[in-house]
Amino acid sequence: MQNLDETNKVVEKKNYPKELPILPLRDIVIYPGMIVPLSVGREKSVKLINEVSEGNKLIALVTQKNAQKEDVEKGDLYETGTIGLIHKIIKTPDDSIRVIIQGMEKIKVGKILSTEPYWKAKIKIVENKPKDKTVEVEALMKNLVTLFQQAIGISNYLPQDLIIASMNIDDPDRLAYLIASNIQFKLEEQQNILEISNPKEKLEKLTEYLNREIYLLELGKKIQNNVQSTIGKNQKEYFLREQINAIKKELGEDDERLSEVKKIKDKLAKMKVPDEALKEVNRELDRLEKIPVASAEYSVVRTYLDWFVKLPWNKSTKEKIDLKKSEELLNKEHYGQEKLKERILEYLSVYKVKKEKLKKGEHPRSPILCFVGPPGVGKTSFGKSIAKALDRKFVRMSLGGIRDESEIRGHRRTYVGALPGRIIQGLARAESNNPVFLLDEIDKMGISFQGDPASALLEVLDPEQNKDFRDHYLDLPFDLRDVMFITTANTIDPLPPALRDRMEIIELGSYTIEEKIQITKNFLIPKQMKEHAISENALSFTDEIVSEIITKYTREAGVRSLERTIATVCRKALTKMQREDKTELVIDENIILEFLKRPKYFPELEVDERMGVIGVSIGLAWTQVGGDILFIEASKTKGKRNLKLTGQLGDVMKESAQTALTYIYSKAKELKIDESIIDSTEIHLHIPAGGIPKDGPSAGITMATAITSLLTNKKVKKRLGMTGEITLTGSVLPIGGVKEKILAAHRSGLNEIILPKRNQADLEEDVPEYIRKEMKFHFVSDIKEVLAIAFEK
Ligand code: ADP
Repeated sequence: MQNLDETNKVVEKKNYPKELPILPLRDIVIYPGMIVPLSVGREKSVKLINEVSEGNKLIALVTQKNAQKEDVEKGDLYETGTIGLIHKIIKTPDDSIRVIIQGMEKIKVGKILSTEPYWKAKIKIVENKPKDKTVEVEALMKNLVTLFQQAIGISNYLPQDLIIASMNIDDPDRLAYLIASNIQFKLEEQQNILEISNPKEKLEKLTEYLNREIYLLELGKKIQNNVQSTIGKNQKEYFLREQINAIKKELGEDDERLSEVKKIKDKLAKMKVPDEALKEVNRELDRLEKIPVASAEYSVVRTYLDWFVKLPWNKSTKEKIDLKKSEELLNKEHYGQEKLKERILEYLSVYKVKKEKLKKGEHPRSPILCFVGPPGVGKTSFGKSIAKALDRKFVRMSLGGIRDESEIRGHRRTYVGALPGRIIQGLARAESNNPVFLLDEIDKMGISFQGDPASALLEVLDPEQNKDFRDHYLDLPFDLRDVMFITTANTIDPLPPALRDRMEIIELGSYTIEEKIQITKNFLIPKQMKEHAISENALSFTDEIVSEIITKYTREAGVRSLERTIATVCRKALTKMQREDKTELVIDENIILEFLKRPKYFPELEVDERMGVIGVSIGLAWTQVGGDILFIEASKTKGKRNLKLTGQLGDVMKESAQTALTYIYSKAKELKIDESIIDSTEIHLHIPAGGIPKDGPSAGITMATAITSLLTNKKVKKRLGMTGEITLTGSVLPIGGVKEKILAAHRSGLNEIILPKRNQADLEEDVPEYIRKEMKFHFVSDIKEVLAIAFEK
């Protein structure tokens, strides 16, 4: 047992000897101020300890650069070390000893004086400088204490007491030594901390080491946790997985996966795909190779990849534009619609010139055409012809009833059963990235809480944005600049202005009976005969028969149900010819009666039936599906000058009725109406609905006429139709849709028409001459003129 009091005397700094025996240390650096237990085993070292402990108990502690080396030679030791004071020696049963040593002062080893029986060398005490603590050093110390606490918290080998110890040290060197001796840094790093003399530098270095150590400790802990939590589950899963693998092998699932992956890879190899898309597809392919075939995830990834390879990323059809041929084609496929044909040719010629002037990779910007008109006038079929004229693919997508943005833009893949939106689907179908894409019924698109489909559509149609159109499902930009979009609508009123502005509106009007006859003879009949495999001359239709089919079996602005009716005739004719062993059939009135049964419409008859009654007049209306005539009926019951309205009418129409009534009451005397009746009467105006809601001011004069008829007991002329807005002073204002209205009147067998004076030019411009010749027209600017014409004499 050593007497510590005795040794303390020797510890007086100035009394340190100039030469000391050296104890080479393996794997440890002993810092000034630290008390460390050491095992000493090497013979030379044991000898040294034994001899020194008899004397001043002081040795130089110097660390070996290489811990493995048994016999140290010159250059094997670091040059900086610590003076050690031996506190205690404990003998062990073998020849080694344990010593408790205290580090005293930092020293530099000088000249080696002898190597036997142990190393002895000159030493010099090194003072760390500067001694004064700067603010920076303070801050570094505080931070180190926090980091040290953190490290203690994570590690499970450091005692909690060290936290208190570190908090109570206010000497930078001592703090550094406390931390460095407790954390397991690398040996060179430990030595480095001893060697650095500048406290700030020393603390900074230590901070760096400590931070790294904390990171490693955290990482270690995480791994540990993961391993622990999976061990239990793993064992259970292991057996299940083995079973699944066995089953998979039995079922040949892995073969299935391989062949699927290969199929997709083969397809991809033949495609040109933009870089971003390629990255994504490779990522998904990678996933496909890993996830279990039976999992839901597998089929999600597969479906995605299927869509991906179906898309024409860089596939387009070659376009050639020959204006002459285009014109021939349009004429070959469509009768009439001259204005539209001309407009399409202009569009194509501008497009062609623009395209020729562009450099490679540039895209011609063309307005988006919007064909507006009633059903069956050829909007879709003109779209198809444009595609043909440009030698492009054609896709049609109906927007009718679409309420949800995702129908256009797709659902995110995380959604169960997600699919791309219709735009991307359409392109996949077209198998080309430059088709003519017809967006049908753009006016029938709904707006709902699910996001606004119109705004998604705006993005599709916007040349500024559609370069990077992003479908939610695809989750990749797709370039839509080469797609030629064409839209169709029955009316443009419901379209948001932003959408309307993006398009060039081209109107397609109703067909006259004459036009319908031509279309039927030259297009619908040959087309349907071909479709029914009836040879060219087998059926013959006369003009009269065609006209009868048109007027008595259909009533429409376009030719849709006409085409269906022709198809019925062809089908029945084919059956009849086979039944009766005939090769030819003349379609006459009897055959039509046999095939189509009783006529559905008797336009003149209906007019005759309903007219000829007091209080009824015929108005001309414009609706989304074309023009129509409407019967306005007025009747009176007991009341007080009031007005009752029934039928499917809009607000504008109701106001217009009120205006008409007010005007008539104000002019009662002039119109020879008994005023005493007015005061005790309620007028009831009824406009039979006929399925399509009507609104607009153009029935004003018709309602005034019906009311006047009722109050003056005069019948309105049977075949007279009229349209015009009325003001409170009795002026007649112009209205829209003249062509549609006149054609409807003509279809219905009317022969006399009253129109606002200011609509005369429309009539001459839009309505074919032969119809104008068949009817009598009156142009008026005041209701008095109307009432002068309207009644039977
Ligand atoms: P929309 O799209 O306007 O409702 P469609 O294009 O579907 O009308 O036309 C209906 C049918 O009528 C089609 O078979 C079309 O070929 C035919 N058709 C319409 N207009 C004409 C026309 N001017 N010439 C020849 N066929 C026509």
